Amino acid sequence: MEAFPEMTGTHYAAEKKTILSLCNNRKGYCIADLARHLDTSIPKVTRIVSEMMADGYLVELGKIESSGGRRASLFGLNPDVGYFVGVHVGHEGLTVAVTDFPGNVLHTVENISFSLENTEKSVHELAVLVHSCLESLQMDLTKIAAYGVDLTGRVNHQTGYSYSYFISEQKPIRALLEYEFGRPVVVENDTRAMAWGEYVCGVAGDEGTILFLNVGWGLGMGMVLDGKLFYGKSGFSGEVGHFPLLNNNQYCRCGKIGCLETGASGLALHRLVTEKLAEGRTSVLSPAFKKGEEITLDSILSAIDKEDVLVIECIEEVGATLGHSLAGLINIFNPDLVIIGGRLSRTERYLLPPLRSAVNKYSLNIVNNDTHIKVSQLGRTAGAIGSSLLAKSLLLGNID
Ligand SMILES: [Zn+2]
Repeated sequence: MEAFPEMTGTHYAAEKKTILSLCNNRKGYCIADLARHLDTSIPKVTRIVSEMMADGYLVELGKIESSGGRRASLFGLNPDVGYFVGVHVGHEGLTVAVTDFPGNVLHTVENISFSLENTEKSVHELAVLVHSCLESLQMDLTKIAAYGVDLTGRVNHQTGYSYSYFISEQKPIRALLEYEFGRPVVVENDTRAMAWGEYVCGVAGDEGTILFLNVGWGLGMGMVLDGKLFYGKSGFSGEVGHFPLLNNNQYCRCGKIGCLETGASGLALHRLVTEKLAEGRTSVLSPAFKKGEEITLDSILSAIDKEDVLVIECIEEVGATLGHSLAGLINIFNPDLVIIGGRLSRTERYLLPPLRSAVNKYSLNIVNNDTHIKVSQLGRTAGAIGSSLLAKSLLLGNID
């Protein structure tokens, strides 16, 4: 399935993809630079660039002074040639992001009400919602080059299977999505897509090694090591939530006891708050709790806006537990940057001080001196933006 057929099966397809990848960093290149990078002749590169301009991929950005006082043309990506769409499928609905070829984020749309179920009909409904969202943004659907879809749980991006949405043993969810969208699709784990979004477009600057902690209902980790997403053999790396670290005798969702997630996640925060409410502690949530109403993670997070002391105490406990484990991760990876993302990142005012303190206490100073800890900049749009950027990587052949 090729959205942009002129990119494959034609002369110079490999060279064209290399030029697109080179121009990905938003800089322009002159013919002599491209010839050097491709290790080929200037007449050949001139021919390839002309074809790519005729196809609409490249545009002339301007002129630069070159050797001998001559002015050389600078070529770069044409932002209007095509677009990439990222779709984050979360418990709270869909988030859609649109990026262009140079990697600019053009649109993000949050809170599209939807719950993915294990049926082909549900995948069809997802595609209908995304298309109608794109139409409301007045996007030309024929110019969408590829889609990226990120999902919770274990995802193997190479085979296209999601193990949370195991709709058909014969067909991976990616095949169903490609049928619905009529374009190449990359599927990815949500935390890994968020890590990539932050790495390319968010809070990461020039840092090459980052750990992204997705502190949502559960706890996951996305790793960018030396500028590349780390997958592991089957794409299941980053299961830090099930790191058997805690001696708390708490059952985990996975069936084991003492996983990190049972002490450092939204689920843990929910347990701590409801336990203390049951003990009779006072909170803005007490009246609802006494009436037997459901205490949701959202209602707990909203209690911070009212400076609820009970909730703040519980967030501090979660921050200390997370920081303790993060100290070990920092010792192992020696990262430039740790990004705290996910739903609990909005509690940063209370979460981060005990987290930093535990990192200082338990990690080796010589290692943690290298590491910055920051909160996600893209917030709830990180996954969708990351997915759209991964869709571009797919088209350019930068991922397997
Ligand atoms: Zn577990």
